[in-house]
Amino acid sequence: MPIYEAPVADTMFVLFDVLGFERHRNLSGFEEAGRETVEAILNEGAKFARDRLLPLNQVGDREGCRRDEAGNVTTPAGFVSAYQAYGEAGWSGLAADPDHGGMGLPYALATAMTEYITTANMAFGMYPGLTQGAIAALTLHGSEEQKSLYLSKMISGEWSGTMNLTESQAGTDLGLIRTKATPQDDGSYVLSGAKIFISAGEHDLSENIVHLVLARIEGAPEGTKGISLFVVPKLIPNANGALGARNAVSCGSLEHKMGIHGNATCAMNYDNAIGWLVGEENKGLRAMFTMMNEARLAVAVQGLGQSEIAYQNAAAYAKDRLQGRALDDIRDLDRPADPLLVHPDVRRMLLSIRAFNEAARALVLWTALKGDVAHRSDDETERQTADDTMGLMTPVLKGVLTDTGFENTIVAQQVLGGHGYIAEWGMEQFARDARVAMIYEGANGIQALDLVGRKLPANGGRAIMAFLKEVKEDLKNVGDDDVLAPLAAPVKAGLDDLEAATWWFMQHAMAQPNNAAAGSTDYMHLFGLVGLGYMWVRMAHAAREQIRAGAGDRTAWLEAKLDLAHFFMARIMPETKAHLARITSGADVVMKMPAAAF
Ligand SMILES: Cc1cc2nc3c(=O)[nH]c(=O)nc-3n(C[C@H](O)[C@H](O)[C@H](O)COP(=O)(O)OP(=O)(O)OC[C@H]3O[C@@H](n4cnc5c(N)ncnc54)[C@H](O)[C@@H]3O)c2cc1C
Repeated sequence: MPIYEAPVADTMFVLFDVLGFERHRNLSGFEEAGRETVEAILNEGAKFARDRLLPLNQVGDREGCRRDEAGNVTTPAGFVSAYQAYGEAGWSGLAADPDHGGMGLPYALATAMTEYITTANMAFGMYPGLTQGAIAALTLHGSEEQKSLYLSKMISGEWSGTMNLTESQAGTDLGLIRTKATPQDDGSYVLSGAKIFISAGEHDLSENIVHLVLARIEGAPEGTKGISLFVVPKLIPNANGALGARNAVSCGSLEHKMGIHGNATCAMNYDNAIGWLVGEENKGLRAMFTMMNEARLAVAVQGLGQSEIAYQNAAAYAKDRLQGRALDDIRDLDRPADPLLVHPDVRRMLLSIRAFNEAARALVLWTALKGDVAHRSDDETERQTADDTMGLMTPVLKGVLTDTGFENTIVAQQVLGGHGYIAEWGMEQFARDARVAMIYEGANGIQALDLVGRKLPANGGRAIMAFLKEVKEDLKNVGDDDVLAPLAAPVKAGLDDLEAATWWFMQHAMAQPNNAAAGSTDYMHLFGLVGLGYMWVRMAHAAREQIRAGAGDRTAWLEAKLDLAHFFMARIMPETKAHLARITSGADVVMKMPAAAF
């Protein structure tokens, strides 16, 4: 069976030694989150991920979910009791509002936990994960009555949540949604329509399922301007929260798919189901975006998670498997052959994955901390800057971590040779599971367009300017240190490439928007590399200072950080140049060939 140990030491290093978690003590929830408490929570989470969820990962993949003729869905063996244990341990309410039964701890801490859960079992993690997004949307946009009816049950995990956007004719283009909502005299609505691909749409884990559904109120304007958000519970609660009648929403079928078999992907039928408007009429997309932004970060973490578990298993295999001889004097003649790990090309594969994973973890936690500042700071300017950065980083993280995360699962599979292709080792499942993260929550091409088309120009470029300023100022902190300065130099070069690409868009995309669209995916990856490189400089800085101060038995661990930083700068950071070259080649090479020639 595949192995997984959650990287608690790394999370702690990033949060406390690199990102200065304790400097956020002024924010609510942080005063209870001292180093020891955080470490204890993470250790418990690591144990839960390893002991409860990892053993179900292959079971879930093999068994999948089953639907009976009445439309009830059964999850794989062991999921129900693991879900109960998850709720009882309080994992679902870690960062949630204490007024509704949550613990109110930092979002950054909950994000670290999300990584552990999704890494051990991505299909399982989606059930509570989607609920988190639904909680966020109801918290921000729900009426007081809706909040008191739904939030505490969802935060405890007794009720779960879903997001219902997609219809067969409406995927990326949500303006094409047809599900209809008809107002009733009592203020409720009757919904009719069919949704497809709804994750966790029906299952046996929670006693109720709260669907957040996009639909068009009769007579609403065409396109995205006429879409509203509704809460549609599977079982309709009465005013005191007790479960009542079954609503007319059902799972018509389960999709057969490439991965995440343990998660039920449902076609959902709304046959005059009762729902209630969330937020304002025709402003449903805005409200749903709250849920999607939360979900996008969680999906980014799925990319990192599959990359991490693939790395851990590939590294263990490379240390153990004996094949061939080393080309230099590290060969061990007492054994019939040397371990795979002696071969430079195997090391290249493992180091590329690991150098990505550790920087990606830091970038996720850096962004999650911005989320804490954006939602919990008393200072309006600070809140706004943090919110800008979060908005900017969300498409970058979603797109880059899932694209590269998936590629890394393939690279890790390669480390095992033919054994990587055989189901027993688990490597092919990581690749199959990781693949969908590039597609849902807005396909990655759409993330790139969101970055270039919306996030860059918003408020006159305020977010990108603040990001560039913060990175430049931090890079100055390394001074002329003989280890750190050579690490900062490639990031400065990457920043120059990013600025050149941004400037090129400003000059060439106004008159011809295809110039921005054709370069958007490269821009997103260029941005991601700068973010990851920046994290490596900060991690190297913290590691170097600790080594200088005398790190005792942690020295080797910290020196590995410096080795990885050097690898990243030498082998990965130079890719910014290729991205810039593609961006500035413009749209013509992409658009010139006529449709008939395809
Ligand atoms: C396993 C799974 C689970 C899912 N879970 C949910 C869920 O819980 N809730 C939910 O509502 N949906 C869910 N989805 C749906 C998912 O979000 C959509 O599949 C996704 O948004 C893309 O829509 P589509 O499949 O219709 O592709 P399309 O919109 O047809 O897009 C196809 C391709 O064209 C590109 N494209 C489309 N339009 C443009 C454009 N304007 N510019 C450039 N490129 C473009 C896209 O990037 C994509 O690569 C799930 C899907 C899967 C596979």
